[in-house]
Amino acid sequence: MKKFDVLIIGSGMGGLVCANILSREGYRVCMVERNKQLGGCLQIFVRDKVIFDSGVHYLGGLDQGQNLYQIFKWLGLMDQLQLERMDEAFDHIVLEGDDKIYEIAQGYDAFIQRLTRDFPEEGNAILKYCNTIREICDYFPMYRLQTEAGGKEKLEVMGISARIFIDQLTQNKKLRAVLAGNNMLYAGAGEQTPLYVHALILNSYMESAWRCVNGGSMITRVLAANIRANGSVILRKREVSQLIVEDGSVSHALLKDGTRIAANYFVSNTNPVNTFRMTETPLIRPVTRKRLENMKNTISSFIINIVFKPGCFPYVKHNYYYVRAGSEWNMEAYDEKEWPLGYALYMAPSKRTSEFADGMTIFAYMRYEEVLPWASSFNTVTSKQDRGLAYEKFKRRKAEKLLGKVEEKFPGIRNCIKTYYTSTPLSYRDYIGNDDGNLYGTVKDYRGPLAALVAPKTKVPNLFLTGQSLNLHGILGTAISGLITAAALMGKDDFIEKIRNA
Ligand SMILES: Cc1cc2nc3c(=O)[nH]c(=O)nc-3n(C[C@H](O)[C@H](O)[C@H](O)COP(=O)(O)OP(=O)(O)OC[C@H]3O[C@@H](n4cnc5c(N)ncnc54)[C@H](O)[C@@H]3O)c2cc1C
Repeated sequence: MKKFDVLIIGSGMGGLVCANILSREGYRVCMVERNKQLGGCLQIFVRDKVIFDSGVHYLGGLDQGQNLYQIFKWLGLMDQLQLERMDEAFDHIVLEGDDKIYEIAQGYDAFIQRLTRDFPEEGNAILKYCNTIREICDYFPMYRLQTEAGGKEKLEVMGISARIFIDQLTQNKKLRAVLAGNNMLYAGAGEQTPLYVHALILNSYMESAWRCVNGGSMITRVLAANIRANGSVILRKREVSQLIVEDGSVSHALLKDGTRIAANYFVSNTNPVNTFRMTETPLIRPVTRKRLENMKNTISSFIINIVFKPGCFPYVKHNYYYVRAGSEWNMEAYDEKEWPLGYALYMAPSKRTSEFADGMTIFAYMRYEEVLPWASSFNTVTSKQDRGLAYEKFKRRKAEKLLGKVEEKFPGIRNCIKTYYTSTPLSYRDYIGNDDGNLYGTVKDYRGPLAALVAPKTKVPNLFLTGQSLNLHGILGTAISGLITAAALMGKDDFIEKIRNA
């Protein structure tokens, strides 16, 4: 049986970052990925020569000295990526029954100036919003690439509700809706979303907002190349099915094809529930397993990827978020008739993009229960299965309904469509390897912040977790998760200073 220092299950952003640090620090890593393409949500696909991202439409914090910039620079990514800075007003919020477009801007001064222009009576509320957002971020030292929080304890702020905070800022319902308008970024739901999740995500984009030209897969390519250059190994199209515990620690991983790989440490980048399901040991107590099994996952999505006719639909360097009046905090609670209560539009930039767009992604929520009739099917490029005619009809019906909704605000869009492709919760379930195609891992809940917290260390001394269900989702959140897990495994965090000063 082959033996490595560390075996990493899954090649999502968290796993890739963790493997980069460990292999750079001299650990011999073996990364095992079940898909043909590495990257998890960083995977891209090409339709009619247009590159579409499956889970990275824009990134924040990439201006010199900002948090993701420093991490990417240290990882050797900054001079390899082709980035496009988005417009100053990077997110345009469109509210039902209102022809005005509200702008969320990068740069705090620009953010304040644009919102105060639209809400002149609300200057104080907007200023307070910005100050609070920045202050909350200080409670999360790794977000600031610090190892100490300077006396600030994050639990003090984890119990604050995003919705209640915004509602108490202002009586102006429109401003409230605008501040929550892009909350599909973090699956914002009124009864659960903590303010810190809103703050960490929004601050990142308000610092600076960027698109990856030709998709985010260059991130995967560079990070994978680093791992190999450091003498470590990546196995694709191989799935870990069991972690075997012997004498109080994991001795080896059993792969679906029967291969056994031994290691001193194991890091799982798949979701914590699946990790514990594949690890039979009394060290993980039934109460812990039950807590994880009962954790709610974030909602899933229905996505239309459009290929445009050439020279037809204008390319813009901003996104659109549409929200139905009064629904900004409960878009998940749609019924068939009302769906969708909101959607987002993201352009797909490529090297040849000029004033017209090649492609666009329309993103709306979809609950997993809608695709239950086809739940027993499994379809990926390497394991093809036709889900059947009824599924195709279902997707077509949903797509036409969503397009109809988008057309109300963007008349003429349909005439520019050459063709479109759709994905459902089943697509994400099958490509990411979770139960329900959830968007961002487990739900963070301000009412019980500790219960929703998953630590990188487990009760099995050499088994660690990483990825979006731990600290925060998103490329920034999972990169930080990779740093935290690597620090926990090595028992040292001196590399954080190197990243800060890279
Ligand atoms: C529709 C959508 C849009 C998004 N948009 C953005 C955006 O614009 N900006 C942004 O920053 N973030 C965005 N995100 C979020 C971001 O992409 C994710 O939070 C992040 O990429 C998740 O990384 P992860 O480390 O948790 O790993 P994941 O991406 O969850 O990957 C886990 C990997 O583990 C593999 N795996 C699972 N089980 C096994 C096994 N048993 N054996 C081997 N391999 C296994 C899977 O195949 C997968 O490759 C978006 C997400 C979605 C779904």
